[in-house]
Amino acid sequence: MIVTLQDMLKDAENKNYAVACINATTYEGLRGIIEAAEELNAPVILGHAQVHETVAPIDEFGPLIVQEAVKAKVPVVVHLDHGMDYEYAIKAVRAGFNSIMYDCSVLSLEKNIEEVRRFTKLAHKMGVAVEGEVGCMPSNIVGQGGCTEFGKEIINIKDYYTKPEEARRFVEETGVDMLTVSFGTVHGVFVDKPELDIQLLTDIHKETDAYLVMHGSSGVDQDQMLAAVDHGVRKINHYTSVGTAPASPLMEAVQRAEDPVYYHDLAKMSKDIIKEKSKEIIALLRSHMR
Ligand SMILES: [Zn+2]
Repeated sequence: MIVTLQDMLKDAENKNYAVACINATTYEGLRGIIEAAEELNAPVILGHAQVHETVAPIDEFGPLIVQEAVKAKVPVVVHLDHGMDYEYAIKAVRAGFNSIMYDCSVLSLEKNIEEVRRFTKLAHKMGVAVEGEVGCMPSNIVGQGGCTEFGKEIINIKDYYTKPEEARRFVEETGVDMLTVSFGTVHGVFVDKPELDIQLLTDIHKETDAYLVMHGSSGVDQDQMLAAVDHGVRKINHYTSVGTAPASPLMEAVQRAEDPVYYHDLAKMSKDIIKEKSKEIIALLRSHMR
């Protein structure tokens, strides 16, 4: 069933857990995530990222995500991940998404506030929740959302961290429901082992009442992930660990096969692998114990 983001994350705040937001890029992935949430009786946020438009065009895949969310036996929010332009964000709303990340973090703080405020005003009139980003999360994968490419030359990640006073101002002036904060994670696969700045997260949490969101969590270990939840993170985005999970088992299956390999068998395997990976993530965030 589809529920509002506010209802979902209010419960997470009251009971101190976080909800996994996992991007679905194929039908198998979508089914895998939903079956995982249903098996654990946990809420889940189904994400679609603008960067995956060529793989899963929102006009075709968006309504399918919404349809599956309606049928699900657990609370579901349908979310646009890293909507990078206004027109695309509007497309997602038209497709039936009830939560939108409008990512203007590449702009100056002033422009970011101006753009996100304009969108949030409209979205709230339609009962749609909005996520914004202050500070900027580097990406080590070309083409992923974020302000810069991490690449091989290690830049100082701390230069990209969210400043608590900017977070407060951004939330106050835009009216966003959720805020993506940068405090030690990067998109994609980590070059170094991540060290989350939990003190900074605590300081940001004190400054704002928006629900805090962590992106780029695929390489973060269990203890740090739970520390982030204990200090106010209520939505944790995942894709890399889920999206890359099927590759090795599928390759082995193809290599072992003596008979012709049908792609529908590989698709079914992918769904099962994504389901197991999603269950791991959901269980870690304690959302199944609510
Ligand atoms: Zn992200």
